[in-house]
Formats: sequence, structure tokens, C-alpha cells
Amino acid sequence: PFVITSPCIGEKAADCVETCPVDAIHEGPDQYYIDPDLCIDCAACEPVCPVSAIFQEDFVPEDEKDFIQKNADFFKK
Ligand code: SF4
Repeated sequence: PFVITSPCIGEKAADCVETCPVDAIHEGPDQYYIDPDLCIDCAACEPVCPVSAIFQEDFVPEDEKDFIQKNADFFKK
């Protein structure tokens, strides 16, 4: 799946939400998150993010890798 990382914190531009064909992007308290069980890896959200916070799981920068789990955990509640 795709993952939303730290540049989203405080930004929350939300451009991605409307582009997602499966409504996998949900608003959290400080940032948006992608539900890994819903994401179909279409990549539509990645280019619309004005702060480049969205990455395919395998391409998340080293210092942002915690966000893979953070996105997944948000939907476990
Ligand atoms: Fe939605 Fe596609 Fe982005 Fe996954 S990659 S969150 S399906 S827009």
C-alpha cells in the first residue's frame, strides 16, 4: 500500500482524499492516513500531495519508516 508520512503533519492539505478511488485516505488528529487494507496501489494520491508526503511502502524514506506502522495502526482502533 501507499503510506502518508510526516510532511502531512500540520499540513493536511487533503488533496489526496478526493483522488482516492477506494476512499482509503482518512483524517486523523494530526495528519491523514491510508488504510493498507483498502489501498489498491493505484498511485493516484502520490502526485497530488503538495508536500510530497505520500510514498509507496517500499519507497518510504529511511527516517520515515515508522509511518508504515502508524498508518496501519490508525485503522486498528
Ligand atoms: Fe488510494 Fe490509490 Fe493512494 Fe492507495 S494509492 S491510497 S488506492 S489513491
